Amino acid sequence: MTVLALALAMLLLVWAGVLLAFAAPLAARWREPVLRRPVLIIESDDWGAGPLIQADALTRLSTLLQGIRDRNGHPAVMTLGVVLEVPDGAHIAATGCTEYHALPLGDERFKAVRAAMQDGIQSGVFAPQLHGQCHYWPPAVMAAAREAPAVRDWLTVPTPAATETLPSPLQSRWVDASSLPSRALAPEAIEQAVAAEVEAYQAVFGSAPQVAIATTFVWNDAVEAAWARAGIGVVITPGRRATCRNAAGAPACVDATMLTGARSRAGQTYLLRDVYFEPSLGHMPQRLVDGLKARTQQGRACLAETHRFNFLQGLDASLATLETGLNAALAACPNVGFLTPLELGQAIRRRDPAWIETRLRPRLAAWRARLDEIPRFRRMARLSGLALPLAWLERAA
Ligand SMILES: [Zn+2]
Repeated sequence: MTVLALALAMLLLVWAGVLLAFAAPLAARWREPVLRRPVLIIESDDWGAGPLIQADALTRLSTLLQGIRDRNGHPAVMTLGVVLEVPDGAHIAATGCTEYHALPLGDERFKAVRAAMQDGIQSGVFAPQLHGQCHYWPPAVMAAAREAPAVRDWLTVPTPAATETLPSPLQSRWVDASSLPSRALAPEAIEQAVAAEVEAYQAVFGSAPQVAIATTFVWNDAVEAAWARAGIGVVITPGRRATCRNAAGAPACVDATMLTGARSRAGQTYLLRDVYFEPSLGHMPQRLVDGLKARTQQGRACLAETHRFNFLQGLDASLATLETGLNAALAACPNVGFLTPLELGQAIRRRDPAWIETRLRPRLAAWRARLDEIPRFRRMARLSGLALPLAWLERAA
């Protein structure tokens, strides 16, 4: 009896040790809100100023999305991460590439692109969000152009440029990556730039942005503070914040990790976008289904990332893959809800009982499904036998 009691005490001690070792990530996943229903949002970046063929792609996307509806009749939603300017190539070339000049989204040349965006917004299928005034930091691109003929060519192309072809480090707006590793921008420069781009966004869309997503997912506290002052309350993240480009040009200097519903220092609600669905890279429709099912089990929304480039070339094939994927997701999770990141962020912030689970048992089930993602915890829980009482806890609830 004494031996048994001693063994039990030892076991409890081991379990307590494991729980204590992983206390922070376990608690964070318990605090993270649990959704009552599956949620699917297609997140699409880089639209706006750029190639004029976007107008046709946007119109066809809008028609496609309007044909796919959730149980409540809401159409599938695709966010448009909007870019508000590209270089004015002819103008820059005329200065011998010594001065930067912008071609803004408000220009007459982009009339059809703007109209296609507005049509989709009015139909409830497009949700615009701020991606940036431009998909680069102009002084950094100008500096890089002095050394790199390819960047110079890109800056002086007479037709609206596609930022996708700019070297990746230069696509980060909130660092100076003209040389690597990148250098931080002055907070005052960020503040000014954000104020200007929010104004430009408002001029095009008629209202200020409420959701932002940094280009290439590189941003920092100064950017969030400026966004907050401009009224942006929701920030889309990949779950970690890179603040620089390293010597190899990759996003680095990660200074924060986050889960959905966590708050930034400036008070914004973070959302997570972590399913990759790029049809032109060979991603199959099933990816949307698998992403949605896994996140639903975790009580999370599925935010699927798909960039504009999928729809600039190979438009027919990408549309077909997206349509098949959305229909398959709807078939796999018939009670899926389509809503915008802003609606999701507000539901989380207000703890809206229509969306946020409060019952213990489903919350425990979602929490357990989340634990597998904690590095080493799954293995430790299995080795120590802790997995058993965790499973029992859920059944007993
Ligand atoms: Zn982008």
